This record gives sequence, C-alpha cells and structure tokens, in this order.
Amino acid sequence: MARLHNLGFARIGAQRELKWALERYWKGESGREALLATAAELRARHWAAQQGLDAVPVGDFSLYDQVLDMSFTLGNLPERVRGYHGDELDNYFRVARGRSADSAAHGHDEHHACCGGVAAGEMTKWFNTNYHYIVPELNAHTAFKLDASRLLAQLAEAQAQGVNAKPVLIGPVTYLALGKAHDGSDRLELLDRLLPVYAELLEQLAAQGVQWVQIDEPILVTELDADWQHAFNTAYHQLKSCRVKILLASYFGPLLDNKYLAANLPVAGLHVDALADRADVQQLIGLLPPHKVLSLGVIDGRNVWKSDLGELLAWLEPLAAQLGERLWLAPSCSLLHVPVDLESETTLDPEIKSWLAFGLQKLDELRVLGRALNEGRAAVASELAHNAAALASRRASPRVHDAQVAQALQQATPALEQRHSAYAVRAPLQAKKLGLPAWPTTTIGSFPQTAEIRRARKEHKAGHLSDADYEKAMRAEIAHCVREQEAVGLDVLVHGEAERNDMVEYFGEQLAGYAFSSHGWVQSYGSRCVKPPILYGDVKRTRPITVDWIKYAQSLTRRPMKGMLTGPVTMLNWSFVRDDQPRSLSCRQLALALRGEVLDLEAAGVPIIQIDEAAFREGLPLRRAHWQEYLDWAIASFRLMANGVRDETQIHSHMCYSEFNDIIASIAAMDADVITIENSRSGLELLAAFEDFAYPNGIGPGVYDIHSPNVPTQAQIVERMRAAARRIAASQLWVNPDCGLKTRQWKEVVPSLAHMVAAARQLRVPT
Ligand code: GLN
Ligand code: ZN
Repeated sequence: MARLHNLGFARIGAQRELKWALERYWKGESGREALLATAAELRARHWAAQQGLDAVPVGDFSLYDQVLDMSFTLGNLPERVRGYHGDELDNYFRVARGRSADSAAHGHDEHHACCGGVAAGEMTKWFNTNYHYIVPELNAHTAFKLDASRLLAQLAEAQAQGVNAKPVLIGPVTYLALGKAHDGSDRLELLDRLLPVYAELLEQLAAQGVQWVQIDEPILVTELDADWQHAFNTAYHQLKSCRVKILLASYFGPLLDNKYLAANLPVAGLHVDALADRADVQQLIGLLPPHKVLSLGVIDGRNVWKSDLGELLAWLEPLAAQLGERLWLAPSCSLLHVPVDLESETTLDPEIKSWLAFGLQKLDELRVLGRALNEGRAAVASELAHNAAALASRRASPRVHDAQVAQALQQATPALEQRHSAYAVRAPLQAKKLGLPAWPTTTIGSFPQTAEIRRARKEHKAGHLSDADYEKAMRAEIAHCVREQEAVGLDVLVHGEAERNDMVEYFGEQLAGYAFSSHGWVQSYGSRCVKPPILYGDVKRTRPITVDWIKYAQSLTRRPMKGMLTGPVTMLNWSFVRDDQPRSLSCRQLALALRGEVLDLEAAGVPIIQIDEAAFREGLPLRRAHWQEYLDWAIASFRLMANGVRDETQIHSHMCYSEFNDIIASIAAMDADVITIENSRSGLELLAAFEDFAYPNGIGPGVYDIHSPNVPTQAQIVERMRAAARRIAASQLWVNPDCGLKTRQWKEVVPSLAHMVAAARQLRVPT
C-alpha cells in the first residue's frame, strides 16, 4: 500500500484571509485575538482539506515566515529584540518587519525600518522560488534555547481535529546554511550547540504521541562541500536515538551527487523531488537501505498544470510493487508555492482552466494516484479518464501551438542577436545623437502610482470608465510626469508607467499565450502576495503595446524619452510557465515577440529603449554547475530582443540587485549600452565586479534607496558618485535612483530627484 502525505500547505488562504487579518492587525484596526482566530480558522480549514492523507503537515502554518518561526523555536532571536517585555506577537513582528521609532503611534507598514527603532531581519529568496524568508542571524556567540510552544500548540489543535499530524521542521543543516554570520565566524561551529535543541524538540513531540516528523533539508539539492556533508552525518547520527521517526525532506531538484549521503543518513525515510530526473530517483532506490521509506514528490508543487496521471502511474506501478509499504507519495514540495483553489477562478477561460490544478486540486490528484495504486486503476477510472482528456486537449489545442510562432523562431538565427557594431563604435554615434552632458541623469521608469491612478484602472477594469476616458486619464498622468521631470531638470525622461499595473502582467496581457487568474495569489513575503500570469501557449505580439504611450510622452518634450519594456527573462521568471517545453524555448518566444516592440519603438523615433531584467539573477539554477547553461540561453534571449536596433539607438537595461561578481561576464555579454543597477544599500562593493572586469559600457549605479521614504541630500549623492568614479571611469557613469519610484509619493520623489540633478550639476563643474 502506497501512503499519501503532504509537505506543507499555503497559509495565506484562498481569499487571502491571512493577508487582510495581518494588515488590519498591523494598522491597529484589530487586536491579537482576531488575528489569531483567523490563523486558527485557516489551519483548521486546510487540515480539513487534507483529510484522508496518511500524514498531514503541522507547523507549516506561519504568521509571517517559517524560517523566522524556526528561529523563535530555537530561541535564536537577534540581540536587538531580546529582553523585550511587551507582547510576544509584537516582538515576532518586530523581527519580521522592523519598527521605526514612532511606529507605535502610527501603525507601520514599511519593511526596512531603522533609525531609533528596530531594524527588520534581512529577507532573501527561499532557494529558487519567489518566496522570501527572514535570514537567521548567527555569530560566534549564538546560543540556542528551545521554545516549542508554537509547534506544540498547533499540534494540539491538529490532534483535537483528529488529524494524523506530522510536524514539520526546518532541519539543522539547512537552518545553518541559510543563516548569515556577520562576524565572519564559521556557522558549522554552531552545530554542536544546535543539535541538543533539536533532540529536545523531537522528544517533546514524541511525548505528545507524534510518530513521524518531517525535517526539511532542501539544502541537499545544492552542491555541498565536505564540511557540509559531514555536518549532515553528524546531525542525523546525533538525532537518531530520538523516539520519533524522521522523514528527511529534500526538494526543488534532484539529489545528484548527494544521493549517497542522503540515502545513508540514519533516518527512517527520505522524501525527494521526483519531477525532473527519474533516473536519479531510480539510482536512489538502488542505494536506499531496505528498511527506509521513500517518499516521491510526484505532483508539481511549483507550477499550476494538471499532472499526467496515466503516465505517472505507468512509472509508479512497478515501484509500488517493488517498495510496497515503503512507498509514500506527495507533492514535490510544500504547496506554499501554488495558489490555493482553482475553483475560485470564475472568469478564467474554461478550456485553459481545464488544464490547471492549484493546491486543493493537487491534493485530489494525489488521492487519485493513491487509489489507483492501492485499489487498481479501475477504482478511479472516471477520474483518470477526465485527467487524460484534459491533457489531450491541452496537447492538441491550437491555442497552445501556433505554427507561425514556430516558423518565426526558426528564422530567428543567432545573427539577429548581434548589434551592427561594437560598443566602441556605437557609443560616439549615440553621444552625438543624444547630446547629453557628463553625469547624465535619469530614472528607472515608474513614477508614483497614486491612489487616483489605481482608482481609474479599477474603474476601467470594472467597466465604469470607458476606454477613451481611461486613456485620457492616463495621458494626463503622463503629461504631469513629463512636466515634473522637466521642472526638476532630468536629462533623459520617462513616461512614468502610469498605465501599467505590474511590469510583467501588463505585457502578458498584451501578448497571445498568456492567461490571468483572478485569485491565483502566492505568498511572496509576510502579507505580500504575487499573482503570476500563466504562460500557456506560443507567444505572439499581435499589435504594438507601448508605442502610442511613449510617442505621446516624447511629443511633450524636446529631451530624449526612454521607451520602457520588460525583458524576456523577467517575463519568464515571474510567470507560471509551460511544462510542455523547455524554459529556454519559452524565453526565446518571449524575446522574439518583444523584439518587434523594440523595433517599433525605434521606428517611432524613440532614441533610448530600456529593457528591464529585474528577475534575471533569480533564475539562476540552485547548482552552480548548471549556471552557465541558464546564462547562455537567458543572455541569448535578451540579445535577441534588444539587438536589432541601429547603432544610434541606445539600449538600457535595469537589474534590481547588487550581486554581479559571479555573473559579470554574462552581464557584459548582454552588451546593453547602459545598465542601471541597485547600489545604494551595498556600499559600492558591487562596482568592484565591474571594475575588475573592466566593464566597458555605461553604468548607472543607483544613488539612493527607493524603498525608504528618506530624501537623500545632494552631498550624499555627490559622495556616492565620486566613490563610484574611483572605480569606474566618470565618462561611463550615469546618475539615477536604485529602482522605479512607483511605491513612493510625489512629495518624496520631487526633492530627491532635485537633489540628484543638483548633485550631477555639481559633479560637472571641474574641481
Ligand atoms: N521600469 C520598472 C520601474 O521603474 C522597473 C522595476 C523593476 O525593475 N523592478 O518600476
Ligand atoms: Zn529595479
């Protein structure tokens, strides 16, 4: 009998109930009881939805972040919040979100707080997902002390509900690997101090009648050096005497060279991601000692497509015969990364909807697989037939496959990725055409998305505002934005992106091949969710997207106007993408479709075109050995989109982060004439990468942090640019903020940009 379980469930709620409850609580509109009641209700509802599984995750729920929860469980709170005498829950949110000095009075909704208050914990991406966790803070003196209260309370709730509870923890090795030691100490030195706390926790769970505990060690799918491999052995040998059975869970990729290590750890069971690499799983089975449980993650916990149940069964049936009771089945990873319920989608095209499965539907698929294996396929014949029909319809649909796209792609040879001339030839032509001063100033694209703009969009979407009136309102916003930029004295202007809801969704909406859910929210961090568009078919641009807006903006000024587009790699990385073709192919389709937009902008007389690749870096595979392959096709796609323009047309790109050391050669290979990057929070270190590489093209290292409402002074900006000029030739430098300004207010934006322009003017005066 194969057994069924789940690794974790989304906690935000099908209607984002947790988001609203958190935000009401943070604003002081509701008390802790209301928040905790919503949380308990969601847990109960989600456990009920998982009834019938042989083991249900407990402790996967979090009010903010599961890694932060683990830090509290381990008693590893940052120094700055220890000894706090107020409400525990407030202290938790102080680490999660920070607290400014005056926030108690106002309610506070800014993640990065400092200056007299409490700085928030650093956030970073959870492996290669779009979920962000709070980084554990470690140092040579870190001590741990168990606080099992959260987990025990949730366990009691689950048991009272009659759930077959399987507590979920983040494992000790992954915990240390995700942590950062700011004093440069060796994190592994802490393992000996950490393990007794885990042992104590497992004992307490055993005392509550728990049989299985799921310990997540996703770090097992990354490259581990000898010390970290050793840490795995140390950790699990020390925990093996605990009275619970440990199911060690790895996910987000195959084990590859860590298979032998994982197979031989002294735990009762192993969960692996079985999606991509079946040969790897097959080899693992050969290595696994005969008493161990093997849990196969066969349902995709990261994407929204229906599984091919017939095909899965053909693979699983012999395995089930071979492994018997030892075979467990589950989604590949926690269902945190997919939306909750497809049934919430009432406006999605029915054909496309029939191809999809969200969290609840994935659990249904799991149940069908389980019954087919345990009772025979006949027991679920109609479910299997339905599934097969949906898959067949997707495979054959003309909405998925467009012969024109395939043909166009075939003609898109690498020659199209090449600019006519090298940068050294282009640069003077562009300089002559644009006539910009030294230290040219610009912005990254968006200007404040005011309440009026959002209201107009909402009314337009609801049909209360006609197309013509909406367009008029947006044009008025663009005109206002251009006037403000001229008044401030910027050199290269933008239209401000008023008409865009989101940099990916906006373009997705205009391209064939994309669908949009109305409730397909996935937690990004805390109460923030994203709703990734669904890329389901061959991508085609059926008409110009931005040209009229940019032309209008250009008509209002004599200064150069930048056209603003989102790049193919970011479109891909921020969407749910097709699983029926390689990501690289979807990316190239996007690139080719958007290349048409670049060329149309150029033909409309737009002298500078910016292609945003905010999510370029986050697409990097978890294993370094796989990086180059990704970089090769990602760069080729960017170049295919960008490089059809004439030498005189200047291509900008923007990337919202500051780690370039390890990918600088690829960044250079993009061959953008100018790249603007985030920089102000990283103290200019990142420019070292550009300096060491002798990066030849233009660079705009952001001069102020747009996440903060603080207005930078002219002197600060001058200082930052002078520091940049110690590494990069002044002739290469541009002056711009870190990122777009859409989350800021005009009253912050105007003085900030005025100081930036004044700083550039000061820099132009020879000293
Ligand atoms: N052009 C976009 C903006 O200014 C870029 C945003 C981003 O890179 N995240 O908002
Ligand atoms: Zn950015």
